[in-house]
Amino acid sequence: MTRPLPPTPRPSCDPHARVTGPVERGYAAYARRAAAWTARYQERGGRVFCGAGCFACCNMPIRVSLAEALLTAGALDAAQAAAVAAHARRVLHNARTAPDDETYVERHRREVGFCPLLDPRSGGCTQYAVRPTRCRDTFSALPARYCEAGAWEQMTRRERESYRREVARTPGTDGELHFIAPLEHLSEPVWAAAARAMRAEWGLEVWGDFWVLTTLARDPQFMAGVGRGDARGAWRAAKAAGLAHPAILELD
Ligand code: SF4
Ligand code: SF4
Repeated sequence: MTRPLPPTPRPSCDPHARVTGPVERGYAAYARRAAAWTARYQERGGRVFCGAGCFACCNMPIRVSLAEALLTAGALDAAQAAAVAAHARRVLHNARTAPDDETYVERHRREVGFCPLLDPRSGGCTQYAVRPTRCRDTFSALPARYCEAGAWEQMTRRERESYRREVARTPGTDGELHFIAPLEHLSEPVWAAAARAMRAEWGLEVWGDFWVLTTLARDPQFMAGVGRGDARGAWRAAKAAGLAHPAILELD
């Protein structure tokens, strides 16, 4: 996903370090592995089309662990936290009203819209250092126009056939979509580290929408419930905050 702006200073003391630490180490390991994989891919003639100011993917829905959301939430100032919370409410409305998964994704991209952490002037991510896993492992083997909302829907039948042929002959794709599959798979250890750390610290795992969990990560009632391993209490707190819906919040 979109490239960096200058790094944002982060708080030095993280009260959730036993949960966020493994994720941060996972991010660092992912960056090393992805750089090595990409270098080999490019030596063999592969192309990565992601670059500075490219952000067409920043209106996709993003699923995260609460461990990742805590890292992002800890870096936000009040204005960004308010913008993320407003975005979370639009996500919730979409979850309540979309009749199926396909419509949910389409409406997210077109109506919920771009991530409020995106700087629309530069196309950079204002929280690049603490962006979630999905923003780190999404890379395109074809030009960004194929990442835009509605790209597939707007293609003619001939263009779709051409896209399929192009994807099928492009190394690094899964043969169906133009994203670079091995760079997504390389992030699986980050998901696993987040799951283990949450289970060990809280006795439960919390997953869901990025903006919803980033908002709830700053909610003391919600975090108190999670900290007690009390899934029902955390759910009640999320409900009181107006952000509880099974499609965007999982407590297990
Ligand atoms: S090429 Fe696609 S995946 Fe890569 S940064 Fe641009 S919009 Fe995102
Ligand atoms: S956090 Fe938001 S702005 Fe940053 S890369 Fe992810 S979707 Fe884009």
